[in-house]
Amino acid sequence: MHALTLIADRKLVLADVRPPAAPAAGEVQIRIKTVALNHIDLWGFRGMAFAKRTLPLVVGAEAAGEIAAVGPEVSAFKPGDGVVMYGALTCGRCKACREGRDNLCENVGGIMGFHIDGFARDLLNLPARLAIPIPPGVAFRDAACAPIAFATVEHMLFDNARLEPGETILVHAGGSGIGTVAIKMAKAIGATVITTVGDDDKAAKAKALGADHVVNYRADRFETAVRKLTGKKGVDVVFEHVGADTFNGSLLCLKRGGRLVTCGATSGATTSLNLMQLFQQQYRIFGSFGASMRNIRASLAKMAAGLTPVIDTEIAVTEFERGLERLESRRVFGKIVVNF
Ligand SMILES: [Zn+2]
Repeated sequence: MHALTLIADRKLVLADVRPPAAPAAGEVQIRIKTVALNHIDLWGFRGMAFAKRTLPLVVGAEAAGEIAAVGPEVSAFKPGDGVVMYGALTCGRCKACREGRDNLCENVGGIMGFHIDGFARDLLNLPARLAIPIPPGVAFRDAACAPIAFATVEHMLFDNARLEPGETILVHAGGSGIGTVAIKMAKAIGATVITTVGDDDKAAKAKALGADHVVNYRADRFETAVRKLTGKKGVDVVFEHVGADTFNGSLLCLKRGGRLVTCGATSGATTSLNLMQLFQQQYRIFGSFGASMRNIRASLAKMAAGLTPVIDTEIAVTEFERGLERLESRRVFGKIVVNF
């Protein structure tokens, strides 16, 4: 069988590896169908000095597949069932895990495809408790976007920022994988969406997704545009993942008592913060990373109800690196998925 393996920074090979043994008690064996790309794949590909990991490493952080075999004591799945997988090796026993806050697991064994071997391989064994069934009618291609892209946004918008119908949200980088999901999820509950994009082509596409107002940040300052669009009031929520380039501007876009939720820093990881502004304006800032199993189930349910991901491109496993380049270039609108 094949496994897409990172052997050095920026060096991927499609390696021939030994297939896994029969699944042990409590495990399932999964045949991977689709892997979806995220910025975490890009960080992993480029290499991160502080990340604790050893190469070679099988890449792929988000995927969907089909149960190939079940080990003893597994009754929830049978061969042929479609599943997605939780993307981190949680313990399932600590307080956070027991309370369903999986992304705060105290004994997490690492993020798949980043710290430990990931999903870009034909077959893998995994504890059955980390597999989540795909509802009928949801394609592997779409389901593959549930564990990270959809669930991260679900967690950010509804667990952290607690976005409500009738509120106004600023979604940064509306053409990105998570940006497109955020626009669709926010519109689905009846929020007003302002989004930023980098060109007119993306502006038209973001509009078509349902965004109420689209700001081309290369042509206009988004802070000024938001101020105008909200009658100087500001927005209730900002969905941040751009980082240093936009963070302070994002705070300026919030109304008093507004919430900013962030899950990324693609333009840079450090910024300065005006503490007077923070407490006087009573801003609430949420750092958000990953999602819970519940968020993944909710994401798949939304897909089954018709809220499907925007797919930018579908590529073959041999084109994985080209997919990463496309992601890095910011030419994408939506998700890049890799078929196995
Ligand atoms: Zn745990």
